[in-house]
Amino acid sequence: MKYDVVVVGAGPTGSIAARYAALNGAEVLLIEEHQSIGSPVGCTGLLSTRAVYECDLEPSDDFVLNSVRGAFVYPPDGTCLPIDGGQTKAYVVSRKIFDRKLAQLAAEAGVDVLLRTRAVGIENSSRIQKLYVVNEGVSETIEANVVIGADGIRSNISQMTGLGNVGKIISGIQIEGLYESRNSDFVEVFPGSYAPGFFAWAVPISNNISRVGLGTTEPDAVQYLNRFLTSNPEVSRRYGGNMMDFVVGGIPVGTLDKTFTDGVIVVGDAAGQVKPTSGGGIYPGALCAKIAGDIAAKSAINGDSSEYNLSEYEKRWKSRIGRELDIGMKIHEFVGGLEDRKLNEFVSSINNPGMLDTITKYGDMDHPSLLVKKMLHPSNSKSVLKICWWLAETVT
Ligand SMILES: Cc1cc2nc3c(=O)[nH]c(=O)nc-3n(C[C@H](O)[C@H](O)[C@H](O)COP(=O)(O)OP(=O)(O)OC[C@H]3O[C@@H](n4cnc5c(N)ncnc54)[C@H](O)[C@@H]3O)c2cc1C
Repeated sequence: MKYDVVVVGAGPTGSIAARYAALNGAEVLLIEEHQSIGSPVGCTGLLSTRAVYECDLEPSDDFVLNSVRGAFVYPPDGTCLPIDGGQTKAYVVSRKIFDRKLAQLAAEAGVDVLLRTRAVGIENSSRIQKLYVVNEGVSETIEANVVIGADGIRSNISQMTGLGNVGKIISGIQIEGLYESRNSDFVEVFPGSYAPGFFAWAVPISNNISRVGLGTTEPDAVQYLNRFLTSNPEVSRRYGGNMMDFVVGGIPVGTLDKTFTDGVIVVGDAAGQVKPTSGGGIYPGALCAKIAGDIAAKSAINGDSSEYNLSEYEKRWKSRIGRELDIGMKIHEFVGGLEDRKLNEFVSSINNPGMLDTITKYGDMDHPSLLVKKMLHPSNSKSVLKICWWLAETVT
């Protein structure tokens, strides 16, 4: 088999990269190790409205389960910071159907999709790549001008080509079960020691079903989840004690130092293109995947897959989203490092009408830098200003 571009991994970023390569005139193959696209699911499925459009999808009832317009933030002292965006800010989706829709769009653009095919080795160069795969138990070699590694957090492609794997991984764990929502138009967020290093969440699908989970840098996430479900006063009161689904997965935090080499580009979780503030990977992954598909196709068709040529990919994705990911990393480190008492103080210092108004107006799940800049207002408390100055160094 010989293709211009071969994409490894049919998650959201793989399907989008494959589609964009095909739309740019390349012959494209998309391979997936599993026998079904979109499962197993390792995701809460909370996507900003912008993320859905970035994937070139219109929100529709076949994959959107709920819409949300704000968040209730519960610091460890149990108080509640309500943030009401006033209009739909995000969708809760079925990832299984969402992923399949993206793969379908790729197929409709002319991409060949091969399931039950695992990439196990690669010989890369500035011209032809040899990708070694096991297809339904049979070893085969596929040739390509460019290989795109969209193979998730433990990417074989990035590891085998010397690009390495992301340095920091948050353990994510979640159940879907009976949970009485305070208001199903709002997600609930619980920073603090119930989820050390990250945060816990309850994302409503309906009034009485939510996806409740957490991410942590500590080992034994299961124990933390059990503690959260049974001991957090707000959650234990509303959790119905049953689960319909159980999800575990890693969330990469921090991008790879380099996301391309001769004949190879890596994208999505494989490259660590995930928002460090929330763990959301669909929006940045989709944005970068389009650039990856575009550059891969052009390089393949021009017959120059050298790393010099492919470096354009990194320049372009960094110029679009690099600074937002950098500031997100600083916020992640700042919030994740606060002990409960300091977190309570911080949330209390922003729980006033002026600040809530600023957060409502300028808060953006995908672009935190805008809010940081707006929070640099002299009327804010000294402690808030100090933090914002420190964060703003990244964006100014
Ligand atoms: C608990 C949890 C909750 C999350 N919640 C959200 C959320 O609410 N919103 C959000 O935006 N993001 C969320 N994320 C992150 C999101 O799930 C990922 O960022 C997203 O799935 C990344 O897409 P991807 O295509 O890069 O990788 P993946 O979705 O991981 O897809 C990679 C694909 O590659 C395939 N593959 C791997 N190796 C090979 C190989 N060698 N050969 C062939 N195929 C291979 C895999 O089977 C898989 O299908 C969450 C993550 C976790 C763990």
